[in-house]
Amino acid sequence: MELTELVPRRERKKVMRTIVRVAVYAVLNHCLREKLFEDCEGCVIDAPGQWHHDCVTWTSMDIN
Ligand SMILES: [Zn+2]
Repeated sequence: MELTELVPRRERKKVMRTIVRVAVYAVLNHCLREKLFEDCEGCVIDAPGQWHHDCVTWTSMDIN
């Protein structure tokens, strides 16, 4: 990765840790969402309309 070349040696650990943390968070978040969507009736039957989706309200609650 070219970005780390520009970062001082002792800063690299910090950068790596941040990348790992973001990656772990992304995976956790993805699994959480997947579990959420499994429980959403609209997602299970693959409904096109948002009104069928409970997950829409769940995700907007997550943001707030
Ligand atoms: Zn849904």
